[in-house]
Amino acid sequence: MYKPTAVVTGGAGFLGSHLCDRLIAEGFKVICVDNLITGNINNISHLAGNENFSFVKHDITNYIFLPGRIDYVLHFASPASPIDYLKLPIQTLKVGSLGTHKVLGLAKEKKARMLLASTSEVYGDPSVHPQTEDYWGNVNPIGPRGVYDEAKRFAEAMTMAYHRYHGVDTRIVRIFNTYGPRMRLDDGRVLPAFVGQALRGEDLTVFGDGSQTRSFCYVSDLVDGIFKLLMSNENNPVNIGNPAEITIKQFAEEIIKLTGAKTKIIYKELPEDDPKIRQPNIEKAKRILGWAPKVDRSEGLKITLDYFKKVITP
Ligand code: UDP
Repeated sequence: MYKPTAVVTGGAGFLGSHLCDRLIAEGFKVICVDNLITGNINNISHLAGNENFSFVKHDITNYIFLPGRIDYVLHFASPASPIDYLKLPIQTLKVGSLGTHKVLGLAKEKKARMLLASTSEVYGDPSVHPQTEDYWGNVNPIGPRGVYDEAKRFAEAMTMAYHRYHGVDTRIVRIFNTYGPRMRLDDGRVLPAFVGQALRGEDLTVFGDGSQTRSFCYVSDLVDGIFKLLMSNENNPVNIGNPAEITIKQFAEEIIKLTGAKTKIIYKELPEDDPKIRQPNIEKAKRILGWAPKVDRSEGLKITLDYFKKVITP
């Protein structure tokens, strides 16, 4: 029987690798494309030898030829944590712009459906709260986050242009903060930073006064929302995330309690343009995809903590 074939760029990354797993579980063949600059081969090593999985080491900002039929192309390649895109600003801009162009070209050639992984960063430091899909954002193009925010905004524009001009069947997911196993301990994001510090018995570094908020979604919920969007008919952007909002200070306290660490919170300078609030409005996803997150933070954090414990002391 024919199996639909999906290309996942960034398939060796945190989200990409979970997506590869889900697509294979749904009966797809998956071609994972990754240049491994922020992805990690360990995230997909369990799929080696699986007849429905193949890996191509490639930088998607360069032209890619893939033989045979391809039905879906999911573009997840990009540095995605503030530390990563500050270290790799040009690569971040290139993969969002040139990479998205190559992916759309591939989808057009193969008559495949294309899904773009976009981000809540397109809303910048938002003045609408919670963020709805029709909010256009408050973004500083020349600040340190501009390389990611503007690349993803360009990627959305390019995706809509291919949809409107070339008739490519496209989807855009705006991903809010997500956590779970396979996050990199050193990616600088708040969760691995706090968990790593707590497990090593170091003080937790809260940036600013910790009153800024985020809303954390467990990875299986996120992947479920993305899969439902891929299978839907919606061409306009859809937010996927968990609306349970928390201040970063409360989050640090939660991690200290959960790990039982005998450490305290110390305060460091707030990075430039750090969004003060963030919470997805998910009414659209609920309405058109019948999707809502199921895993609450206490449950998701337990699983994630177990994963990090193994990474730190295997
Ligand atoms: N943060 C923090 N301490 C850290 C790392 C991050 O207080 O060691 C804060 C950061 O300033 C931001 C929030 O946690 O307000 C989330 O940061 P992250 O890098 O995870 O992602 P963002 O949502 O900012 O893209």
